[in-house]
Amino acid sequence: MTSEYLFSPSPQAALAIVGGQTLFPVARIFCVGRNYVEHAKEMGNEVDREAPFYFLKPTIGMARSGDTVPYAPGTKDLHHEMELVLAIGSRAFRISADKASSVIYGYACGLDMTRRDLQQEGKDKRRPWDFGKAFENGAVVGPITPASSVPTLEGRRIMLKVNGEIRQDARLDGLVWKVDELISHLSRYYHLMPGDLIFTGTPAGVGPVVAGDVLEGSIDGLEPVRLTIGPAE
Ligand code: MN
Repeated sequence: MTSEYLFSPSPQAALAIVGGQTLFPVARIFCVGRNYVEHAKEMGNEVDREAPFYFLKPTIGMARSGDTVPYAPGTKDLHHEMELVLAIGSRAFRISADKASSVIYGYACGLDMTRRDLQQEGKDKRRPWDFGKAFENGAVVGPITPASSVPTLEGRRIMLKVNGEIRQDARLDGLVWKVDELISHLSRYYHLMPGDLIFTGTPAGVGPVVAGDVLEGSIDGLEPVRLTIGPAE
């Protein structure tokens, strides 16, 4: 039996680490839905206080921060969602919330790009969200700041600018399910592993982008995430 691949495997997605020489290899991308009250409201929903819910994005096809990507195919309503991203650095299974922060390697700014019309169609027809959420260049994450240099997330401002204009502007205090609660909850359903990313949900102000738009998402104390939307292919 040969161990050679039929074709070259896809390259490993990886993120830069602020102040480091090594890369953070990405395993899975978990995303939390409806985790800020005002965003849930603007979408005509309420936050579920019983439990958070999730969807996943493929790691293959992640855009790199700073990239110019084509306007996504199959949609007429591509939206930005600016989010705090947790980078998991160790294994966690059924971890309690009070221990959960110990498995966070670091934090980053991320864009959960969304084909809103396809997501809405999925909701209307009671189908999965994959077409709206899990597409090429649908996840973009900036460099990771190690948790050791982030004493607290409290009070930090999260912001998204499009062509220099503020579109999303909130505080991380607005997270309904806090980061330790998310990790603890998710670890009841998955063996979290080093390399996993968790998008923690977007604040209000989501909206459409068009070709030529330059997106910059920032959170106080973290490196920004950047994305430019090119013409459709
Ligand atoms: Mn989102």
